[in-house]
Amino acid sequence: MIITDTHTHLYSEVFDEDRKEMINRAIDAGVTRFFIPAIDSTYTESMLQLESDFPDNVFLMTGLHPTHVKQHYKNELKHVEEMLASRKFYAVGEIGIDLYWDKSTLIIQQEAFKQQIQLAKKYNLPIVIHCREAFDEVFEVLENEKDDKLFGIFHCFTGTLEQAEQAISYKMKLGIGGVATFKNGKIDKFLNQIDLKHIVLETDAPYLAPTPFRGKRNESVYILKVLEKLATIYNVSLETLAEITTNNSKAVFGI
Ligand SMILES: [Zn+2]
Repeated sequence: MIITDTHTHLYSEVFDEDRKEMINRAIDAGVTRFFIPAIDSTYTESMLQLESDFPDNVFLMTGLHPTHVKQHYKNELKHVEEMLASRKFYAVGEIGIDLYWDKSTLIIQQEAFKQQIQLAKKYNLPIVIHCREAFDEVFEVLENEKDDKLFGIFHCFTGTLEQAEQAISYKMKLGIGGVATFKNGKIDKFLNQIDLKHIVLETDAPYLAPTPFRGKRNESVYILKVLEKLATIYNVSLETLAEITTNNSKAVFGI
C-alpha cells in the first residue's frame, strides 16, 4: 500500500529533534510520498536539505504563503520566480488568501495569489491553494484566471458541498486531512457525494492532527487516521482508497 501525503511541512522547526525518525515512521507505514509546500524564502534552505536527505520520497513546491504576504512581498515573489527558473518543482504552493489572521493585507494577498497562478501556468505546474475564511475572494481570483492551464489542489478543504463543487469546476482536487475526522468537521457529512477521483489525502503536519491526536503535533504517519475515516465514508478498503488517492496525486503533480 502506497499512501501519498500531498501537504506536509516536514521541514518545520518542531521536527528538529526527531525529523528523520518521524519521517521513517511514516515510510515504514507505507506513507512514502511527501509533497512539501513552501511558506517563504526563510525555509528554502531547510527544504532543499530535506530533499537531499530523502530524495526518493520528498517532492518540493515553491511559493509564498498568504499569511506571509507583507509589505516586502515583491522580493519574496522574485525569490519564487528565481527558484522556478533554477530547478524542478512540483507545484506552486501554498498560495491563496487568508482573512483569519489579517484582513488588512487582502489587496496584496490577491495580487500575490494572481501573480503566482500566472507563474504556475508559465511552468505548466499545479497550484496548491490555502484558503481560510476567504472562499469568495479565492473564487474571484480563480474565476479570472480559469483556463486550460489552471489546475491543482484546494488544500485542507473545509467548505460546503457547493463550494467543493465550485473548486472542482476550476480543476482543483480537494485535499482532505484531519478535519474529516473531527466531530464538528462537517465535511464528513457530504464527502461521499463527491467522486473519489477529486480527492487527495494530506496531513498539513505539524498542524491539524486528526482525532485521536487532535491538538497535538501532527506528523505524516497520522494520515492513516484520515485514510481510515475516508474508507468508512466511501465504503471502500484502505488499499483501494490509498491507490485511488495516490493515483490522483500523480495526475496533479506529474510524479
Ligand atoms: Zn500548509
